[in-house]
Amino acid sequence: PPATVSDAELEAGRRAYELDRKHVFHSWSAQATLKPMTVTKAEGSYVWDGEGTRLLDFSSQMVNTNIGHQHPKVVAAIVEQAQKLCTIAPSHVNDARSEAARLIAERTPGELNKVFFTNGGAEAVENAVRMARLHTGRRKVLSRYRSYHGGTDTAVNITGDPRRWANDYGDAGVVHFFGPFLYRSRFYAQTQEQECERALAHLNEVIAMEGPGQIAAIILESVPGTAGIMVPPPGYLQGVREICDRYGIMYIADEVMAGFGRTGKWFAVEHSDGVIPDLITFAKGVNSGYVPLGGVAISPHIAATFDNRPYPGGLTYSGHPLATAAAVATINTMAEEGIVENAARLGTEIMGPGLAEIAQRHPSVGEVRGVGMFWAIELVKDQATREPLAPYGGTSDAMNAVIGECKKLGLLPFANYNRIHAVPPLNITDEQAREGLAILDQALEVADRSL
Ligand code: PMP
Repeated sequence: PPATVSDAELEAGRRAYELDRKHVFHSWSAQATLKPMTVTKAEGSYVWDGEGTRLLDFSSQMVNTNIGHQHPKVVAAIVEQAQKLCTIAPSHVNDARSEAARLIAERTPGELNKVFFTNGGAEAVENAVRMARLHTGRRKVLSRYRSYHGGTDTAVNITGDPRRWANDYGDAGVVHFFGPFLYRSRFYAQTQEQECERALAHLNEVIAMEGPGQIAAIILESVPGTAGIMVPPPGYLQGVREICDRYGIMYIADEVMAGFGRTGKWFAVEHSDGVIPDLITFAKGVNSGYVPLGGVAISPHIAATFDNRPYPGGLTYSGHPLATAAAVATINTMAEEGIVENAARLGTEIMGPGLAEIAQRHPSVGEVRGVGMFWAIELVKDQATREPLAPYGGTSDAMNAVIGECKKLGLLPFANYNRIHAVPPLNITDEQAREGLAILDQALEVADRSL
């Protein structure tokens, strides 16, 4: 990639920034104090900021550019589709949509062979919940604290993060429970086995209290992402599946962030042998985010609910040709280039061992955890008390200083509260992965000094 940004590109970036601050209303932000980063160009694993500085993208933006920026095969597929057919109604048939559905159905576990397309993750969650409610005739939905499921009304209330709740009265149909998270165990557990057993006992108790006959679904990120990349202990997802089977509760696996190779498998739920969800929500990595796309993969028993009864839901852009053409190219490219296998290899050979070493060196690191190309570094003021470097739901000068230092050293991380996530594109080179880890190592000295 070219190492510099031209004067014209810098000038365009400055103008974009000015207009942005005047006219663009940003997500999840207090508008007046926001200082968004300008991206003047992006290629592969790199982005260039408003000053023309090159940054190694260890965020994959919103953890979605799984095959990196501007992959030529995907860009070409979008251009080709645009020249052929830009848009059609969702009720018509289109080759890009049909082929994307086939490729997705082929990869989902079990027999989740039908796909309802949306424009992103939140709409996928909204529709999965609606399908589960209509299928079961029940209303309640259970989800874990420390989770993220989207910014629309039902999805945001399902999200287990009080900072996100759009109102202070929640949603009467949504109940939260604690999932397994050994580092901050709510169950006084010392081992993953205890954490798993006690988290399942807790879930059982919540279900007994809420009334199993009223619960339509349990929705779970197979590996919670935004909330901290907590890989579930062995047996937990199997336990959830068993509980769902016992009570006729639908199991919705939210794979919006963890799906499409992020964890080193096509779907993160595949790390748990034998677990087949009733519904899987996906988005992001399905086409690396090049054109907005999400969806729900549906099991035959739920799909059959709507064989002779119309499904009450739909979107003008459901299975949009440009988005699904990008998905076909992305999935085929990932298969051809062995990108999912590469994510698994990089995880075990470079990211996992590299981050474990970093954790040893820095008193500010409480824990590193993850799988594949999905890693979190949890920063603390004190390793013994585990007091977070920024409070849950907030920020701190020390966290902002670490993020600033990463950028100064040429790395763009994904940060949330007291965590730095290392979530680069899955086809990053070994050398780039090592370079990113070296920068993180150096930047964490800023956190150490704040203690
Ligand atoms: N579910 C999960 C697990 C997610 O990570 C996200 C996005 N971060 C969403 C749902 C919502 O997706 P979107 O922002 O595309 O609506």
